[in-house]
Amino acid sequence: MIDSHCHLADEAFAADLDAAIARAREAGVTGALCILAAGDEAEAARARGVQVKWPAVRFATGVHPHAAGTFAGRLTDAADATRSHAAAFAACAIGEFGLDYHYDFAPRDVQRQVFAGQLALARDLDRPVIIHTREAADDTFAILSEGGAVRGVFHCFTGDAAMARRALDLDFYLSFAGIVSFPKAESLREAARLVPADRLLIETDSPYLAPVPHRGKRNEPAYVPRVLEALAAARGEAPAALAERTSHNFVSLFGPS
Ligand SMILES: [Zn+2]
Ligand SMILES: [Zn+2]
Repeated sequence: MIDSHCHLADEAFAADLDAAIARAREAGVTGALCILAAGDEAEAARARGVQVKWPAVRFATGVHPHAAGTFAGRLTDAADATRSHAAAFAACAIGEFGLDYHYDFAPRDVQRQVFAGQLALARDLDRPVIIHTREAADDTFAILSEGGAVRGVFHCFTGDAAMARRALDLDFYLSFAGIVSFPKAESLREAARLVPADRLLIETDSPYLAPVPHRGKRNEPAYVPRVLEALAAARGEAPAALAERTSHNFVSLFGPS
C-alpha cells in the first residue's frame, strides 16, 4: 500500500528516519508521497536524505494555508517558490494548499489569494492538486470552481456525506487518514461508505494524526495499514482488495513514477 500524504522530511523524523523507513517497508508500505512546504530550505535539505534512503518516495510541494501569511503582498513569490521547488523535486502534484479557518494562522483574504494562485500554477504546470481544507468548505468549493477544471484530492478528508458528494461532483479523490479509526467519527465513516472505490486514497498525514491504537503519539508511514483496516471495516470491504484499489488510484491520479 501507498501512504498518499506524509511529511517525512519534517524535523520530527530527523532523529530516526532510517528506522521509520524500515518500519514502513516491513509493514508493507511500498511508496509514499512526501509533502514539502514551498521555499522551506531546511526541510528541502532533509528531503534529499529521504530521497536517498527511500527511492520509492515521491514529492509534492505547495504553500500551506498556515504559511500563506508569509506571502502577503508577494503573491508572485508564492508561485515562484512553488514552481522552483516543484522542479527541484520533480513534484508529481502541487500541494498541499487550501484554506484553514480553524486555526486562522493567516488572514483569510490572504489564504484565499494564495489558494487561487497555487491553483492557477497547478493548471499551468498541468499537475493534480492536494487540497487542505478545514472549516472552509464553501470558500474552498467556490475557488476550486473558478477558472476551469483541475484534478486533485481532498487530503485528510474530514467532511460529512454532503461534503463528500460536493467533492465527487468535481471528480476529486478523497483521501482518508487515521481519523476514520476514531470512535466518534461515525459521520466520516458514513461519508467513506458513499465514495466510489475508484476515488479513494489512504494516508497517514504523519507526523500528525496517529490512528488508533497509536493515537496521541507521533504518526509515521508504517501506520498506514491501520488506516486501511479502519477504512475497509467502515466500508465492509476486504483490506487486501482495498490496498490494491487505493494503490491503483494513486497512480491514476499522480501518474506512474
Ligand atoms: Zn493538511
Ligand atoms: Zn499534510
